[in-house]
Amino acid sequence: MSARTIGIIGGGPAGARTAETLAQGWGLRRAASGGHRVLVFEEKIGWEKPCGGGLSHKALERYPFLAETTGRGTLVRDAEFVAPAGEAMCFRLRSPLAIYSRATLNGLLLRRAEEAGAEIVSDRILGLRRENSGWKLAGRAGDYRVDFVVLAGGVRSRLRRLFVEDFSPRDFMLTFGYYVPAQSELLRVQFYEKFEGYAWAFPRPDHLSVGICGKVGEDRMAGLRERLHVFMQKFGYDSTQARVFSHLLPALCVESWGNLRLAGQGWALVGDSAGLVDPVTGEGIYYALRSGELLAEALLEELPELYPGRVWEEFGRALALGARLAGTFYYGEFLGSGVTTRMVDFGARSRKFREVVQDLLEGSQSYLGLTARLYLGLTRALLETGAGLLRETFQRPHTI
Ligand SMILES: Cc1cc2nc3c(=O)[nH]c(=O)nc-3n(C[C@H](O)[C@H](O)[C@H](O)COP(=O)(O)OP(=O)(O)OC[C@H]3O[C@@H](n4cnc5c(N)ncnc54)[C@H](O)[C@@H]3O)c2cc1C
Repeated sequence: MSARTIGIIGGGPAGARTAETLAQGWGLRRAASGGHRVLVFEEKIGWEKPCGGGLSHKALERYPFLAETTGRGTLVRDAEFVAPAGEAMCFRLRSPLAIYSRATLNGLLLRRAEEAGAEIVSDRILGLRRENSGWKLAGRAGDYRVDFVVLAGGVRSRLRRLFVEDFSPRDFMLTFGYYVPAQSELLRVQFYEKFEGYAWAFPRPDHLSVGICGKVGEDRMAGLRERLHVFMQKFGYDSTQARVFSHLLPALCVESWGNLRLAGQGWALVGDSAGLVDPVTGEGIYYALRSGELLAEALLEELPELYPGRVWEEFGRALALGARLAGTFYYGEFLGSGVTTRMVDFGARSRKFREVVQDLLEGSQSYLGLTARLYLGLTRALLETGAGLLRETFQRPHTI
């Protein structure tokens, strides 16, 4: 293959992982590396990207260095899910989650890319256009010529519309939160009645990330803030000394999954720029890392056209199904109560049901096969809890 230059716009998890995999595959640290170059353009090196920073067990399993280096992150085992009316389900994760500050995580991933031989360029890319068979990128600090461009600029990147249609407002969740200077070992999630979103408190090494997300159209920012303040007051999270954050989170609707376009002639989208986020939970770091890796592998094989199909097969199809299930999860009713209320009810009483929830959180249960497993878990839960819950259920004044 003739020497190629890959330009990656954005040095978050998606861009950094694309770069590391490419640089490693081409052996850029070796003398005979074929003259290839991998350039990562990042405008805000070392920034604290608004994020919970939670990495599921699935991510830690695939990327063990993230578990090994969590000297700089927090490993969390204890979790509590709180139903809209306040009932709670506490459980211990069989495999811990890691929670990172994003400055630490991004720094770690970019350093690995650099050590593998990628070049990190501190610049903002303002625009790009075709030049011969490649691209000319216009940066604040200068122009760059590359053969293939990877957009890894996150959900807000305006460059996205140069490749594909913009996301629609229904493809986002709004988020708002605080970095609270406090310590805790408990991960807490609060659900709401008829509301597509949730509030969270994620412990990090020297503070907590406490925030809320809600699908666009559910609530205005003021409403989200109000819900979060009630959650914080109830559980004693103090916002007086806390730094505020707010950002968009991709949560593609069913139609957008159907129209997903990830690559074309000489370009590809990865991570949030591609919309690759779990539309129910908001987990995006794993999919950013993994999409970057899948793209890099396809580029190393000189078959970038295989990238979209591989994403779809490996996790796109499951996330698209998640978009279908999101409405049922947040709005649906089961045995006369909201699904999140029932999940907490059953989870608090039944070990089998709790296992399903644990697996979802750990990432070992995909949305494919979830329905069947839930029904199975439910049957076992009813057997385990005896008729108690059913009796209570039928005594409440509601329709089934
Ligand atoms: C409030 C909130 C909480 C979240 N919590 C979690 C969580 O707990 N766990 C989880 O898995 N996911 C979470 N997510 C999702 C997660 O943050 C994203 O999915 C993940 O960061 C995507 O990585 P990325 O590399 O695609 O994009 P980003 O992390 O957004 O990185 C994009 C990078 O590109 C750079 N950039 C953009 N444009 C340019 C340009 N023109 N030139 C140069 N550089 C550019 C930006 O500076 C940025 O560093 C959360 C998101 C939000 C908003």
